[in-house]
Amino acid sequence: MSSNIRIQRICQQCGQEFTARTTVTQYCGDNCAKRAYKARKKASKVEASNRETDRMRNKPVEEIKAKEFLTIRDTALLINCSRQTVYNLIKSNVLPAVQLSDRKTIVKRSDIDKLFQLTPTTPIPEQPTPPPFDQEACYTLKQVQQRYRISEKALYELIRRQSIPQYRRGIHVFVPKKEIDVLLGPIL
Ligand SMILES: [Zn+2]
Repeated sequence: MSSNIRIQRICQQCGQEFTARTTVTQYCGDNCAKRAYKARKKASKVEASNRETDRMRNKPVEEIKAKEFLTIRDTALLINCSRQTVYNLIKSNVLPAVQLSDRKTIVKRSDIDKLFQLTPTTPIPEQPTPPPFDQEACYTLKQVQQRYRISEKALYELIRRQSIPQYRRGIHVFVPKKEIDVLLGPIL
């Protein structure tokens, strides 16, 4: 570095051309050097904040499981739902919670576990498989309407209510004679 040299350079901060006295000078003056320093500081703060956000986002569930008192965020992460869902659970008294302050609500880990113990899992009832389609053993809807003098609407309602199997073949819908006759017969 020599003070004898004079080089034209572009300031890295303001973009103005200036005369530098050393080959490593990046800024036109103290002001720009300070501003650049502040900008670097700010950038590194933002980066640290982003890193913190990432860390929170990837906070292992195991870490939360070890805690007895959870924040709303922890709870949401633990049961894999949105924070809004957690608030809704609390509001509807499904999940007990204590509001410590306006911005802090805590949930007991054991209450979350209870949530699942108390909810009995209802087995899905097995749907009876309808017998295979046999056209000879079926009426079309039109036939049922004519035979039993029942309106289309009433017939649809009956089929729905009684869960009568329906077979669609082309433009026709067939229903088993046996079930219809039991429900609507005998013909007077
Ligand atoms: Zn400058």
